[in-house]
Amino acid sequence: MNYISSRGQVSGVSAAEAIKKGIAPDGGLFVPEYIPTLTEDIFRTLEELNYQDRARHILTYYLPDFNEQEIRYCVEGAYNSNNFDNSRIAPLNQLGEKIYIQELWHGPTCAFKDMALQILPYLMTTSMNKTGETSEIIILVATSGDTGKAALEGFSNVDGTRIIVFFPDQGVSEVQKRQMVTQEGKNVHVAGVLGNFDDAQSGVKSIFSNQDYNQSLAERRMKLSSANSINWGRLLPQIVYYISAYIDLRTEGVVKTGDKVNIVVPTGNFGNILAAYYASKMGVPIGKLICAANTNNVLTDFIRTGIYDRNRPFEKTISPSMDILISSNLERLLFEITDHDTRKVSAWMEELKNSGSYNVGPEVYQEVVNGFWSDYCSDEETIAAIRHTWEEKHYLIDTHTAVAVNVYDKYLQSTGDDTVAIIVSTASPFKFGSSVAAAVLPPETIAGRTEFELLYLLEEHTGVKMPDAIRGLEDRKVLHQTVCKVEDMEAAVSEFLDIK
Ligand SMILES: *Cc1c(COP(=O)(O)O)cnc(C)c1O
Repeated sequence: MNYISSRGQVSGVSAAEAIKKGIAPDGGLFVPEYIPTLTEDIFRTLEELNYQDRARHILTYYLPDFNEQEIRYCVEGAYNSNNFDNSRIAPLNQLGEKIYIQELWHGPTCAFKDMALQILPYLMTTSMNKTGETSEIIILVATSGDTGKAALEGFSNVDGTRIIVFFPDQGVSEVQKRQMVTQEGKNVHVAGVLGNFDDAQSGVKSIFSNQDYNQSLAERRMKLSSANSINWGRLLPQIVYYISAYIDLRTEGVVKTGDKVNIVVPTGNFGNILAAYYASKMGVPIGKLICAANTNNVLTDFIRTGIYDRNRPFEKTISPSMDILISSNLERLLFEITDHDTRKVSAWMEELKNSGSYNVGPEVYQEVVNGFWSDYCSDEETIAAIRHTWEEKHYLIDTHTAVAVNVYDKYLQSTGDDTVAIIVSTASPFKFGSSVAAAVLPPETIAGRTEFELLYLLEEHTGVKMPDAIRGLEDRKVLHQTVCKVEDMEAAVSEFLDIK
């Protein structure tokens, strides 16, 4: 299987090349030529396997240019007990009679981004070897908070690569910021940007598309690549855990052959939910994909109207990793549901760039509605969802997961569809500890406390153990202090790379 661009100008690209490049040269995203399908026999085979072996099996379909040892090397390097504090890697817990929650935050940075960013450096270096790459690969990342740290952790000290992360200086939680600015490693660079996530993402995209700049890097034997979910190597490992969750439900006897499951995903850049969509195209019987948004509800409006319109105020919420108005991965969905109509996809993306909106029209819209349902959740509702879930189930969730829990309630009320549901939990509650503390601790306890003090209070009060990766973070040395304007991001890259 080869990869092609969602904009139609690039085709016949190997998986290794697609992963190494990150983004297609015509500005589109790399997509597989076709989506492989899993049969009932394969589902039965997967039931016998652990997470790592399921991952190896599924990756093989999409990486035909990787041999068995290479795939094994990548999977074992990523999903092991040094990196993950749960042997099931992505464990499923029961939250209600027909409601399950999949914890995707047992990796080193306590957010679901680790599921892909622990393996991406292995996929990247293997791809570099396979394609005889002699340039240094410079990974440029824009982050709403969690990708940045997960990418730094993954690529730190990986030979042949350097990583540069831009985060919105005022737009991430204290824990997220600390995690990034204390990152060690000889090849890592971190900068705050005076703007929001969309500004940082647009800044990175414009560096990618500046041909003169890329040429001058090439002369120094450097090539840019991406660790954002625009990179296929980020998306692919995420398909695995949806399939694995479905297989777990089968082995536990919760669903039988052909029974559907609904999947609820707290969504920002549309990467995580898109991976669930690929799982459904591969044959996992998914009823509805429920897209849970915060008040940056551009995707909810899209799923309800077929009109994508980013022209609206950017809101800062307590689920900051979803504070996004330009959801890059929607492009891949549009490519699939238009049956690879790259002309249409290119036109919509052009409209998005020029006017900030596009309308997919009634037929394509019908396809969207068949697969997806969406609603959004305010900060107050987020806090209430954390509180209820704690009081009623004694289960502590972070703010992003709470958005999903709230929106799933709205789904149940609005449709009455109580098909077995999997809610994905995307971060440890301690990663967004001050909001979680505000939800579950008495107000007098939290008044006047710093974010880090609140983490320890939260642990004490709830008895839920803080992940080791977060404990002691407040004492770690700050190693990165650069803050720059959006228009100076390219200059910051040059400075990091020592280019005059
Ligand atoms: C990144 C992130 C999201 C949003 O995921 P997308 O793939 O961007 O839709 C949700 N929750 C958390 C905790 C995240 O880090």
